[in-house]
Amino acid sequence: MSRRVDIDPSPRDATQTDTLPESEAVGVPVAHDYHVHTNYSDGEVMPSMVAAAEEAGLRAVGFADHCNVAARDELLRAKREFGFNLDQTYPLRREAIESMREQADVRIFDAVELDYDPRDEEDIAALLDEADFDYAIGSVHRVDGVNVQSSRPFADMSERERRELVDDYYERLADLVASELFDIAAHPDLVERTPELRGYTTPDHHAMVADAFRNSRTVPEINAGRVRRNYGEFHPASDFRATLRERGVRFVAGSDSHEPAEVKRRKGELDDHFAGREAKPVRLFD
Ligand SMILES: [Zn+2]
Ligand SMILES: [Zn+2]
Repeated sequence: MSRRVDIDPSPRDATQTDTLPESEAVGVPVAHDYHVHTNYSDGEVMPSMVAAAEEAGLRAVGFADHCNVAARDELLRAKREFGFNLDQTYPLRREAIESMREQADVRIFDAVELDYDPRDEEDIAALLDEADFDYAIGSVHRVDGVNVQSSRPFADMSERERRELVDDYYERLADLVASELFDIAAHPDLVERTPELRGYTTPDHHAMVADAFRNSRTVPEINAGRVRRNYGEFHPASDFRATLRERGVRFVAGSDSHEPAEVKRRKGELDDHFAGREAKPVRLFD
């Protein structure tokens, strides 16, 4: 399997849509879940996640464990403390994936969820080249040194500071998409899950990022990680999805599961989502 999977290498034309012809439109289930974690980052052990994928009726599951290649001190310290060292451990995980493939009734992809920062582009490209994953997901989790998923750093910020941080988040996400380093961009409006940052996203942010997707090989995911949790929505939210669809951008499905029980439940949520708008998720592999 090659890493570079060009779904549509040319800029998308605006008439392209993910709406199916009527004859195929009913009940297209999600067959490939491209965003599942194992204990090579913050998920559960691989045999449990594989069994969950089989039980959910998936045809393929992609293990995309967290990875960060920045040499900056605070990030090096964090990755050692949390144990997210996939840039070192991917050969071991690959052995595990290969032996699981011999027993599993589901196809298994060897993938990565890689933190993106424009300063790290060379190191990211070097790792992707060396590791030759089946595909790569890019994520903006941190802006200006803070993780946008935690509330604490933002509690004492003024409205103006929060607005600027959210601006920076979307600029960075547009950079990620334009970098062409990744097959998939994860949870494209991640800041919306954090109550302190919610509501600062604007139609201009949506348009800027959607324009970047239109001109890139990188595909956004519909991420089900917070549908049943405090946020209660997919990423991206419905108005953002509409802006992306207007530009002919389509989506892959990603459950962002960390526990076995999440795989099947979130597949159901993703199935309902795609069936509800008579759309078919993009598959990176046939
Ligand atoms: Zn993520
Ligand atoms: Zn994830």
